[in-house]
Amino acid sequence: MNALVATNRNFKLAARLLGLDSKLEKSLLIPFREIKVECTIPKDDGTLASFVGFRIQHDNARGPMKGGIRYHPEVDPDEVNALAQLMTWKTAVANIPYGGAKGGIGCNPGELSISELERLTRVFTQKIHDLIGIHTDVPAPDMGTNPQTMAWILDEYSKFHGYSPAVVTGKPVDLGGSLGRDAATGRGVLFATEALLNEHGKSISGQRFVIQGFGNVGSWAAQFIHEKGGKVVAVSDITGAIKNSKGIDIPNLLKHVKENRGVKGFHGGDSIDANSILVEDCDVLIPAALGGVINRENANDITAKFIIEAANHPTDPEADEILKKKGVVILPDILANGGGVTVSYFEWVQNIQGFMWTEEKVNTELKTYMTNGFKDVKEMCKTHNCDLRMGAFTLGVNRVARATVLRGWEA
Ligand code: GLU
Repeated sequence: MNALVATNRNFKLAARLLGLDSKLEKSLLIPFREIKVECTIPKDDGTLASFVGFRIQHDNARGPMKGGIRYHPEVDPDEVNALAQLMTWKTAVANIPYGGAKGGIGCNPGELSISELERLTRVFTQKIHDLIGIHTDVPAPDMGTNPQTMAWILDEYSKFHGYSPAVVTGKPVDLGGSLGRDAATGRGVLFATEALLNEHGKSISGQRFVIQGFGNVGSWAAQFIHEKGGKVVAVSDITGAIKNSKGIDIPNLLKHVKENRGVKGFHGGDSIDANSILVEDCDVLIPAALGGVINRENANDITAKFIIEAANHPTDPEADEILKKKGVVILPDILANGGGVTVSYFEWVQNIQGFMWTEEKVNTELKTYMTNGFKDVKEMCKTHNCDLRMGAFTLGVNRVARATVLRGWEA
């Protein structure tokens, strides 16, 4: 199912549970602003290359719009729109004073040199610089982008507006980035998983995990789960997949990935078909890559009892229905992967305060926010007699709806 159709469907289900006025529902659904820009750069060989960049600003009722910038061949307006809307509900579930936005450039960053990526990022920033800002819209990294990308955006933006570190988060620490930001989404996944398992009388140790995606989110999540005694029995990335039913030695795998740029060829397990990773035998499945990977084609074959959505919208609504019938508990993306944007908020606060927090303070505060988010979602599940996805959606949508009504519409 198209990402935007799926996200709108979840939003509408939540709006119905909340009994939202239809006019308010419509106003919450329509994005605040959609930006589409041409980005043409000279390649290293002197030829020109043109790309399309997007920034979709979904809602700002609760504060500046916030969300990552993705460099990926599959970036298209519907996908970015869905991701922007999810950011609005995600920041509201985390209870941080932001709205939602998302951006991206349709490109394959693996095929561009560092200098080409720098030029592309600077051109994109030139096109959107007057529409982002510390109190309007604050970008961050997402798939295919990283702290270096944020450093270029900061530098380019600062040429127009003066030095403004708080205009992006997920920056290198040397430029005002926060300690703990790199690991934050993975660490947040750990805290959310612990909260869910504890509620079911279980803990990380003793559970068998499968992790699809071994990028920034999946690799940190694997590391934290391993440290807590969880057994990671299979992982995959774009290069391949490996399985070891006795548990993969994650520190060794991390070393291998660093040296070989992927899990392929790792000797501490058997190589398996990456397409079958989601149906590998396990207790907890963590999709940590692209959206829409759990769908009606494979939902019936999933063996996990718990799914932790470290990726954005990995589960199609049709799969949601199938999995619900099978009794699988899904911790939804807008709760499970909120650790990244939460520490982005801490970074922004530190930049505005001009004061750096210790990593311990960052991690302690992150745990508090993740645990509170889980508790608040559970409350909504009780109130509306619904699953965790609708608990998270009703919580997020309700907070945004309240802020919208309080601000009013008077022109
Ligand atoms: N790209 C991340 C997400 O999807 C982080 C966004 C941010 O830090 O603003 O949540």
